[in-house]
Amino acid sequence: MTTAYPHLLAPLDLGFTTLRNRVLMGSMHTGLEDIGNAHQRLAAFYGARARGGVGLIVTGGFAPNPDSIVMRGASILDNEAEADKHRVITQAVHEHGGKICVQILHTGRYAYTRQPVAPSPLKAPINPATPRELSAADIEQTIADFAQCAAMARHAGYDGVEIMGSEGYLINEFIAPRTNHRSDRWGGSFENRIRFGLDVVRAVRERVGRDFIIVFRVSMIDLVEDGSSWDEVVALAQALEQAGVNIINSGIGWHEARVPTIMTSVPRAAFAQVTRRLMGKVSIPLVASNRINDPQVAEDVIARGDADMVSMARPFLADADFVNKAAAGRADAINTCIACNQACLDHIFSMQMASCLVNPFACHELDVTVEPAREPKRVAVVGAGPAGMTAATLLAERGHRVTLFDAASQIGGQFDYARCIPGKEEFGETLRYYRTRLRDLQVEVRLGRTVAAADLAGYDHVVLATGVVPRNPQIPGIDHPKVVGYVDAITGRKPVGRRAALIGAGGIGFDVAELLTHAHSDDELAAYRRQWGIDIGYTTRRGGLNDPEMPPSPREVWLLQRKPTKLGDGLAKTTGWARRLLLQKRGVHMLGGCQYLGIDDAGLHLRVGDDERVLDVDTVVVCAGQEPRRDLVAGLEAARMPYTLIGGADVAVELDAKRAIWQATEFAVEF
Ligand code: FAD
Ligand code: NAP
Ligand code: SF4
Repeated sequence: MTTAYPHLLAPLDLGFTTLRNRVLMGSMHTGLEDIGNAHQRLAAFYGARARGGVGLIVTGGFAPNPDSIVMRGASILDNEAEADKHRVITQAVHEHGGKICVQILHTGRYAYTRQPVAPSPLKAPINPATPRELSAADIEQTIADFAQCAAMARHAGYDGVEIMGSEGYLINEFIAPRTNHRSDRWGGSFENRIRFGLDVVRAVRERVGRDFIIVFRVSMIDLVEDGSSWDEVVALAQALEQAGVNIINSGIGWHEARVPTIMTSVPRAAFAQVTRRLMGKVSIPLVASNRINDPQVAEDVIARGDADMVSMARPFLADADFVNKAAAGRADAINTCIACNQACLDHIFSMQMASCLVNPFACHELDVTVEPAREPKRVAVVGAGPAGMTAATLLAERGHRVTLFDAASQIGGQFDYARCIPGKEEFGETLRYYRTRLRDLQVEVRLGRTVAAADLAGYDHVVLATGVVPRNPQIPGIDHPKVVGYVDAITGRKPVGRRAALIGAGGIGFDVAELLTHAHSDDELAAYRRQWGIDIGYTTRRGGLNDPEMPPSPREVWLLQRKPTKLGDGLAKTTGWARRLLLQKRGVHMLGGCQYLGIDDAGLHLRVGDDERVLDVDTVVVCAGQEPRRDLVAGLEAARMPYTLIGGADVAVELDAKRAIWQATEFAVEF
């Protein structure tokens, strides 16, 4: 069969074993690893991805010893009894023709425990605990623990291991002069700094034999000061090949790096060219990673010769069947990861289990399922935002006859505005996915007309997914012509002048500030690298960093809120820091503790503390949150029609697309 992705879907021969394609599912900590008896759930999770066609799966990190755990209670893979529990996982993957490696992760100074360990007692900027320096004896023991962990992986039926050598974890801490200040045989010269990682590989190879996959994740670009130089990256990779590694995977940036490397504003495959620089320097396969979320992008990476394989992690939370859909020529049916981090990394960093904003079934394979409806009904879903699109498609999948209405001429609701923000273009993929699903499931979609309660007679049930209306705060002069709502500002229906004040600094205030200060570039990848000081040629400093260059903002912007707290405090953990930093770099004035006194020809009158001032702005953009839109409720109640409120129509406070999609899912699988 011909395919649009011949390079991606080509098998990869490793000598003693063959991978069925070039797709590696990258390691992701889901939180299931830390729940004592979640092996069945992990088996269902990985089994579904193997059934979906992934060539090689790498699990979330498992610790080789107690020092190396991510946090208290995390699993350690160091004995046969523990390894036996993993057999359900390896069996589930093998049943579907996949292969699976366990990732051995020693977190080093990133461990969220009272006493992390590290090559040198240097505190990480992202961890409050100062690590204890490992003694020479500790180091030897740790190497033996890695080997024992790998042997247990083999005992459990895994096809191999991935040794985590990047992202600023223990092995990476030994390699980089930034974190290795030792003067014994484990520090100082480059040969000494890489000794620990190489000895780990040699010890693992000795324990597991030749016919067992060893993947090593090399930090290709540390993106921190005093990281590795490029020559050292190359020399390390060559030494790893000699030591017995079969595949080199790419790690990009340490966790403490102040450079965003995976969020949605990072261009697709932004780091494949770093991996490309290593092609030809070693003879084992290389894997490119980061922001590869589309089969064509993945195909191009391999076809161009940037890498031999691609690693995708979050895309398999979003869609377990990614590979099979691509292979079947149904890329249009892939539920694409939009790199929002909202339900995966943000959950993990707040000690919750991972799942996916666009796929609430991820990591819940056993507890949330879609069953045929017992009594198929005629259902009207009003509102084609995230809540309505989700409810309509799931209800149709269950066998209900569904009509989806929206007043707008296209589906998406507020999400359709989100995709207009520079760096959030990925959100458009979710709308493409829903368009395909609605068509495939033969949902009747009626757009372009506001529905009244009277239009809904004859349906057995109405789902009100009518969403939200922007809040219009009671400020004197709010009707002044220089005031525009965020929807008009985003869509360009109303112009925004060169000096603008934004009332409200929630997610939408930040997004609008990004839009208004964005300087268009014809080469977004080059612009991204310049803005964040990424130097993939390593021309100036170790770690692949140089001085950032921010293009001048096309506008002067004030971002305002009434709360006295730091602006952006409520933004998501894994992306909020980068969004705040970006606006700071662009010179956005951020003011908290504002009292809005009025708007007139002179501008926006404010009181901040005891200080009264006028911001002489051309435009005031209102981003002051939303209220639920429930104008159909009274009519439906009068007509005694059964209805259910979901998404923003139900509760607008702190509403985001995750809650809208998840609530719609819970409703639709139970209805
Ligand atoms: P809505 O999206 O508001 O959809 C409601 C739909 O109902 C609308 O299309 C409307 O036309 C239709 N409708 C209403 N009444 C009628 C009627 N009587 N007849 C016919 N149709 C009707 N969320 C995130 O999670 N992450 C983000 O990064 C993010 N970024 C955002 C960026 C921006 C700029 C914006 C504006 C929003 C963003 N959001 C984000 C929020 C997210 O889009 C909303 O939380 C989500 O869209 C709410 O979904 P919903 O289905 O409840 O309602
Ligand atoms: P929001 O996060 O609730 O922020 C509303 C802002 O308006 C706040 O800054 C609030 O601060 C201010 N405000 C509230 N009432 C006001 C009033 N009466 N007068 C003046 N100011 C007022 O809402 P949003 O920014 O509209 O975002 C909507 C939802 O979309 C949020 O839940 C958000 O999570 C989601 N979203 C997420 C992202 C993301 O990247 N994850 C991006 C965009 C949107 P003060 O009360 O202090 O003034
Ligand atoms: Fe991707 Fe967002 Fe889902 Fe995470 S939550 S897998 S980033 S779409």
